[in-house]
Amino acid sequence: MEYLEGLNPPQREAVEYNEGPMMIIAGAGSGKTRVLTYKIAYLMDKGTEPFNILALTFTNKAAREMRERIEEVVGSEAKNLWMGTFHSIFARILRYEGEKLGYQSNFTIYDTEDAKSVIKGILKDMGLDDKLYKPNTVLGRISSAKNNLISWRAYENNNDLRIEDEASGRPKIAEIYKEYAVRCFKANAMDFDDLLFNTNVLFQKHVDVLNKYQNIFRYVMIDEFQDTNISQYVITRKLAARYQNICIVGDDAQSIYAFRGANIQNILNFERDYPDLRVIKLEQNYRSSENIVEAANSVIRHNTQQLPKNVWTNNDPGALIEIVKTATDADEAKFVANSIFEEKVQHGLQNEDFAILYRTNSQSRAIEEALRRMGIKYKIVGGLSFYARKEIKDMVSYLRFVTNPADEEAFKRIINYPKRGIGLTTVNKLLVSAHEKKITPWEVACNIRHFMGGRAATSIENFRDMIRAFQITLEQKDAFEVASMIAKNSGLLRELYEDKTVEGKVRYENLQELLNAIKAFVEDPEKEDKSLDAFLQEVALITSAEQNDSDDAVTLMTIHMSKGLEYQNVYIVGMEENLFPSQMMMESRADLEEERRLYYVAITRAKQKLHLSFALQRYRFGKQIICEPSRFLGEIDRKFLNIHSGVAAGVLEARRDFSHFSTEPIRNNLTVNTRKTHTPPPKGVKAPASFQPSPAEELREGQRVMHLKFGEGIILNIQASGSDRRAKVNFDKHGEKNLILTFAKLMII
Ligand code: ATP
Ligand code: MG
Repeated sequence: MEYLEGLNPPQREAVEYNEGPMMIIAGAGSGKTRVLTYKIAYLMDKGTEPFNILALTFTNKAAREMRERIEEVVGSEAKNLWMGTFHSIFARILRYEGEKLGYQSNFTIYDTEDAKSVIKGILKDMGLDDKLYKPNTVLGRISSAKNNLISWRAYENNNDLRIEDEASGRPKIAEIYKEYAVRCFKANAMDFDDLLFNTNVLFQKHVDVLNKYQNIFRYVMIDEFQDTNISQYVITRKLAARYQNICIVGDDAQSIYAFRGANIQNILNFERDYPDLRVIKLEQNYRSSENIVEAANSVIRHNTQQLPKNVWTNNDPGALIEIVKTATDADEAKFVANSIFEEKVQHGLQNEDFAILYRTNSQSRAIEEALRRMGIKYKIVGGLSFYARKEIKDMVSYLRFVTNPADEEAFKRIINYPKRGIGLTTVNKLLVSAHEKKITPWEVACNIRHFMGGRAATSIENFRDMIRAFQITLEQKDAFEVASMIAKNSGLLRELYEDKTVEGKVRYENLQELLNAIKAFVEDPEKEDKSLDAFLQEVALITSAEQNDSDDAVTLMTIHMSKGLEYQNVYIVGMEENLFPSQMMMESRADLEEERRLYYVAITRAKQKLHLSFALQRYRFGKQIICEPSRFLGEIDRKFLNIHSGVAAGVLEARRDFSHFSTEPIRNNLTVNTRKTHTPPPKGVKAPASFQPSPAEELREGQRVMHLKFGEGIILNIQASGSDRRAKVNFDKHGEKNLILTFAKLMII
């Protein structure tokens, strides 16, 4: 067990103590996740069967990484661990046991878009105004009810909730909730919250099932405990009730999901629920330089609500934290791209060593553009995920419908796509009949002659026959073969193939990509269940945080997504009032403290170098607005900062006493930070005046250009346009190359 050498004494104590409840509430980077990982390896080493261990992580990616580490120690047995997010573990339990609640094991998991569509349908049928009853608001209300384990029946009978709804002018929420539950159940579908809610119902109603899982889960562990909500806590407590070997790790200073129902109270409840709790403190930070650790400490000290802890590190002081002011958001983006470029050259770093963190997703656009121009590869975590794209959802809807024909949302998506002559009126008629008769639209389609005749009925019969043919293959072929056949015979592949626009091509490739993913799934020796059902379940639970991360790319994401992760260099952009802290979160001290915890999370992702930047003007809400630097900038102790321009320093002083900051006119439209950003180019390359790359649009045939890798050359020709634009360049030293202009680092010389 030499891996235990890689732990300090309290970490080791935590790993070796397993019989009884334990809590580790400790600062960022102190090795909490490492303790959980080693603990699992240790238990398995000592003979515990992997299927007796339940480990709950915040993202699927975190689970995957943990599993890989554990595999390095104990081998392939690690694949039999119960390890994953709350949602994925509970979905798995519900696949096995859901029949006891009246669901079939092939239930669909509705994503937010499906859920919204159900709500819209209900609003329409109830004749309610969707401006007043905004689907998002209604769903939010239902979601928070479920996360507090309040069923629609309990909601209906709860006076306080009814009064709140009436006060907000939306007295019908209880009715909508009920109808929503009825429709989802009829469609044999669960939304994300149902996965938790129904698991709790299952254990409540079926004590035998609960007993079974209590016996299975000898050891229960939860990472990022500070962000669990009531339903997650209640369920895990039930699961651990027999053995009481429950270990939670977390950091109250990193609790950032209060708005989603996560409750710091859970940490306090834990102490109350397990009086003979072993508490272990971890205080040494191994992740970050001393400056970063101390800067983070100085920030979180501004919060009044926190459990006391002392985080320190033995690491070198490292570089100071850079504060950078730019004129506009576009300049900020350029600064970040330039800086990454320089850091890579100077310190031999890879793209994957960098993360750019922002408060809201909409900030990514400018940064993406700057990175593209510099030819720096990036990936966005948490943007529109691959599985949320229209063409992918269409195809997945076919797959869903074939496995679960009760799935009404899938039905609505595919019944007339690609077009097969079934008009909207016919579809509506069919749906109304289904609701009236309390049967599924599929059942109506199967008996369509009872409901309508003529051409419409014939078209629907054709659709029915097609689906039935797919269902037959489902029994005979593997998931990949079924999916390929569906893509072809539904007409979807042809539909996309015939669209020759650039977007159409991308959509076609995406569909191929999905088929590749299914093939990889079928061929993966680690996957026990290779059915289409199993694939669909996996897909449904891929949150936007899970993207393919095999490539060497800079990571762009919101701070919320960055929890638990670490990067060599981190850029926190948009350090401006009303953006960070967010305008929506400044109504109370508690909200502001939550924003500050978010700030603490962001800072503590960095290992070596941290840049904080702000712009004086930013394009927001469709117009250019004047921005004020964030109050958070002034909360880091000055001695850890490197402030570039005199103006930025003045700004910070101004922030310190919160006096009004007046922006001065800005003449220079480029990066304003006065730091010298010029870097010597790689060996053997003659330096151009500046490494600002030229926008690809300006390039012409015959122009002499410079490429960072290939040196100087001349453009022979330019083909295509838009993002696909390519240039053939004859380089003096490397000969002819074909380059995609959005990616190539070409500079006019
Ligand atoms: P967060 O609060 O951000 O989730 P954490 O407490 O889970 O952080 P880890 O991610 O487990 O911290 O550890 C932070 C870094 O420190 C990791 O790179 C980890 O490998 C390293 N580390 C942890 N403990 C030790 C140790 N005893 N010796 C060397 N490195 C360590
Ligand atoms: Mg962690």
